[in-house]
Amino acid sequence: MRILDDAQVQRLLPMRACMPLMASALRSLSRGDAQVPLRTVVPLPRGHDVLALMPAHATTPAALGAKVITVFPDNPGRGLDAHQGAVLVFDPVDGRLLGLVDASSLTAIRTAAVSGVATERLARSDATTLALLGSGVQARTHLDAMAQVRPLERVCVWSRTPAHAETFAAWARTAFPIEVATFGTAAEAVRGADIVCTVTASREPVLKGSWLRPGTHVNAVGASQPDARELDSRAVAMARLFADRRESLEHESADYLVPLREGLLGDATVAELGEVLLGKAEGRRTPEEITLFKSLGLAIEDLIAAGHLLERAEGEGVGTEVAFGGAHPSA
Ligand code: NDP
Repeated sequence: MRILDDAQVQRLLPMRACMPLMASALRSLSRGDAQVPLRTVVPLPRGHDVLALMPAHATTPAALGAKVITVFPDNPGRGLDAHQGAVLVFDPVDGRLLGLVDASSLTAIRTAAVSGVATERLARSDATTLALLGSGVQARTHLDAMAQVRPLERVCVWSRTPAHAETFAAWARTAFPIEVATFGTAAEAVRGADIVCTVTASREPVLKGSWLRPGTHVNAVGASQPDARELDSRAVAMARLFADRRESLEHESADYLVPLREGLLGDATVAELGEVLLGKAEGRRTPEEITLFKSLGLAIEDLIAAGHLLERAEGEGVGTEVAFGGAHPSA
């Protein structure tokens, strides 16, 4: 078995390489080739800390295993990523544990890569202004992903803690040749944006539909539990809706369930991003429509990324090999 740490994951999984992997994971899911049970979330006694178990199996491309992570939203105050844990990759032929891959950066990169795939298909081709609501781990990888799929000229950042928005902006100006501006309110940051990414740990809406102009594409990434929202009902009701998976949306997303219960979604249908990639559902239809991709995060994304990482690591002799797994006495 090979163990890959966080630094090795960052080096071996550039955003550009991760996006086609995520497209293949989403196609596999929407073709019916993958089994991905809804994640099991164990709430912990303090605050909103949770343990999450996320298994998956797919035939094409082959993937078998599980992500096991904790999400401790207060961890940044301890100098730690909020997402801690590992992806366990098993051999689909004999069930051996093949790899243990640090889940922190893998989660950050694969989530933004999925939003990149969504944006590539759903944003207007002339989109150049990005608004980021939030300035943490996902904000950084989302800027990377958005810059891969559209010729960004300006990034507008709002964060709950203004100093964090400034820290993000200072980093972004050194990492990307793009104008970066910070704003005191989310409304100001969103004004004039072609693409909006909500990447906060907020449990109440941070984005209002009344701020969105025609033709905007929104990636809603943060709230992934049935009691947390980042968008107000109007933002969801005014958009054409896309999700990584309908079943996850219907069980895990208050951003979707609240306006649905309020009767605001009418007979609107939700397309899976994989269906768009397979040509079974339409992407953007007009320059004016508002498109919304709701990301919940799926174990098949983690497993396909982790499988790719283990292959690359073996080829380059990276990682730590450990003897693992029981032999049979008849051997
Ligand atoms: P970080 O802890 O790095 O960043 C959290 C961000 O949320 C910070 O910018 C923080 O603002 C902001 N924030 C926290 N609480 C509030 C609040 N009450 N109101 C407004 N803003 C708030 O987290 P990540 O970047 O790793 O994750 C961001 C979100 O994305 C989380 O909810 C996470 O669970 C989710 N996520 C979703 C995935 C998916 O597949 N869809 C995968 C991974 C993560 P500040 O620091 O300025 O106070």
